[in-house]
Amino acid sequence: MPLLADVAVPVPLSQAFTYEVPAALAGEVRPGARVLCEFHRRKLLGVVLAVSERSAAIDPSKIKPLAALVDARPALPAELLAFLQELAAYYFAPIGEVLRLALPAIEREQVRALKAQGELGGVLDLGRAKQVGGRQVAYASATDVVEEPGTLRGQAAAVLALLRANGEQPVARIEERFGNARSALKKLAERNLVALDEREPPRDPFFRRAEERDVPPELNAAQAEAAARIDAALAALAPSGGGEHPASTQKEPRPAGQEPRPAGQEPRPAGQEPRPSAFLLFGVTGSGKTEVYLRAIKSCLDRGRGALVMVPEIALTPQLVARFRARFGDELAVLHSGLSDADRHAMWASLHVGKVRVAIGARSALFAPVPDLGLILVDEEHDGSFKQEEGVRYHARDMALLRAHRAGAVCVLGSATPSIESVALVRRGKLAELRLPDRAHREASLPEVSLVDLRRFRAGPSGDPLISLPLHRALEKTLAAKEQAILFLNRRGFAPSVVCGSCGTLTTCDACSVALTYHRGRRRDPRPPSPGGAPAPAAPLDERPEGGRLRCHYCDYAGPLPDRCGACGARNLLLEGLGTERLEATIAGSFPEARVARLDRDVAGKDRSQAILARMREGKIDILVGTQMVTKGHDLPNVTLVGVVNADAALGLPDFRAAERGFQLLVQVAGRAGRRDRPGRVLIQTRNPEHPAIAFAAAHDVPGFLEREIREREEVGYPPATRLALLRIDAVDESVGRGAAAKLAAHARTCPEGAARRVEVLGPSAAPIARLRGRYRFRVLLRARDRGPLRGALAALTGLIRDGLDRNARVIIDVDPVAML
Ligand code: ADP
Ligand code: ZN
Repeated sequence: MPLLADVAVPVPLSQAFTYEVPAALAGEVRPGARVLCEFHRRKLLGVVLAVSERSAAIDPSKIKPLAALVDARPALPAELLAFLQELAAYYFAPIGEVLRLALPAIEREQVRALKAQGELGGVLDLGRAKQVGGRQVAYASATDVVEEPGTLRGQAAAVLALLRANGEQPVARIEERFGNARSALKKLAERNLVALDEREPPRDPFFRRAEERDVPPELNAAQAEAAARIDAALAALAPSGGGEHPASTQKEPRPAGQEPRPAGQEPRPAGQEPRPSAFLLFGVTGSGKTEVYLRAIKSCLDRGRGALVMVPEIALTPQLVARFRARFGDELAVLHSGLSDADRHAMWASLHVGKVRVAIGARSALFAPVPDLGLILVDEEHDGSFKQEEGVRYHARDMALLRAHRAGAVCVLGSATPSIESVALVRRGKLAELRLPDRAHREASLPEVSLVDLRRFRAGPSGDPLISLPLHRALEKTLAAKEQAILFLNRRGFAPSVVCGSCGTLTTCDACSVALTYHRGRRRDPRPPSPGGAPAPAAPLDERPEGGRLRCHYCDYAGPLPDRCGACGARNLLLEGLGTERLEATIAGSFPEARVARLDRDVAGKDRSQAILARMREGKIDILVGTQMVTKGHDLPNVTLVGVVNADAALGLPDFRAAERGFQLLVQVAGRAGRRDRPGRVLIQTRNPEHPAIAFAAAHDVPGFLEREIREREEVGYPPATRLALLRIDAVDESVGRGAAAKLAAHARTCPEGAARRVEVLGPSAAPIARLRGRYRFRVLLRARDRGPLRGALAALTGLIRDGLDRNARVIIDVDPVAML
């Protein structure tokens, strides 16, 4: 019988393809290894899922041999490979695309080089090839050896002096200064005065500055208790290496942490409480969750296992990374989108071979090949960025629970505002709760929150109704005390809408059914013309500074501001509403002596946002204005005032999570205030002070809000009380999209699960954003109490989606959807 390999190739198809393993590669092709294989006359890089001796299910003459083996050591360890297959099944996502998420990018060049090599049937072993791992760099450092006085002259003496004074240096840098550096270094090395070392340079910006090792603080009682319970869970894990589950033991894919069997445990005799291995670390802002993470990683490493840390946006958390670096030094791989392919590969490779055992990164770090995975930490687990909203639509928090469970690892989800989903898991006994009820610094307490009812208070001196008198006064006080303030506003740009003053027509994007935002962009003079004067709520157009653009926040459109209304032709367009750009300008105008800066996606590339946060930390900014980027876990000691300019903006969205998300934002941004000895103050401006998200946030009552929200979801039948799958349909032609949506809905209603009402079918309907990038959008929502029937219905639809619909309609299955727009 032939030796056959099931190979996943990077195409949007769910099945694997069968190839024959050439005799020369018989013992070498293993699951998880990359192979070069012919697919429709092209050579593609695929991943072996399984190898077995069996008779082929298809015509043996149609089975091609594998062209080459790329990795001698499988690129994907068994644990990761099994997890990825399960993830693909859970999300109804093509296996080839899921695998691609986990593999280091191989530049097209190299694949071409591989093909050119053309040693068909051979082992290319890219894994070991230096060309991918990045170039090696030589470093020189002085040793402890002391030379006999007077025996060194010229450049050799100078180079040695330099190394002794400044520590280790790259050889290239020494060469810049000394013409004969090479021969001088050679001489010095021969006499053991200098050591030369070749290695890959840390090119990651996070590694540019050497971080000094810190001294771990003594834990307070709540931290100690949390750390001890995580430690006990780690101690109970199977011994190192036992975490690799062979793919064959897998059952039907399961939702993260939602099965009757507690994570990581085998069934136990009745009466014996299983030890939990998944936790929710619920600690108020500033309670010292990070210190608990650091201890957990330490005890994981001490037990010989690796750890994975996921954070929402790594570019915004240099401080957090620095704390990890200070504790674990170079034992840490930082994965982020700013890495070049070569750097990413280098990081990946050092984890893969076990040189580094801790990885930290955003969502995509979920797929890091951490060796002997023992612990996964998800910081700010409630954050929406853990859900990938394009390509494979996975939720990294849910999948972290799944990966940990399958790997026999401990999982810790941390937040000051836990997601309703996680709280529900605690209630069902799937997660054990750890609480940190107080701020870690003894003097720090939670800030005092006051609501400013915008219906009752008049505008402050700026004239803008969104900068109320109480907010203006509070800013004055903060500045007078030489403290810092953060103003949070959830809208980028200068003016969120442009409206005709004559006919009322809103200027919208041609390709999307959304209003265009006016961006003023960079100006030569950062201050508006009249300090303290009034950019009125709707500034007439002739006051617009040059260089402004209209932008669509959903597609890439950017164009000039027209000089007249497109509908009625009147030269009377008004810039309406307040965006962060305008807020910055208005604040700078009202407080000419203050240093005002802005943090949002428009100003912030990765380095730029770090620079702004660094200036804030150094006290070089008095008032920081920004979008949710300012709400993330920054620890800025001198911030004593936080102003939420318009709390209502997020609450009115047509999304069942709008209240939850609004609440989280408010609590998180409020948590930036008063983190040290000086008390903090938070002003929340709203026209809707009774809204539960606002009222509970003002009272710091997180458990109260969660309690209410869970009940609410139960009443309206939304997750976590039910499970959802959203079919997203779009097409350039409106009727094509509508037709496909109708067909899908009808099919869902008549499939067994739909017919038996185990799955409820809502729609078809137009999406809240009915048109995006020139495509009309529709959706069909499937809802069920249990996951089984929902999966059944989705499975029944996949055939129709593959080949039963108009080719011009695109359908995406979004399991456990987050974005509902
Ligand atoms: P969180 O992640 O919960 O928001 P952090 O971990 O950032 O909180 O902690 C807030 C501040 O308290 C940090 O400056 C941190 O260094 C400090 N801190 C944490 N734990 C302790 C402790 N046990 N003793 C003293 N300071 C602590
Ligand atoms: Zn658009």
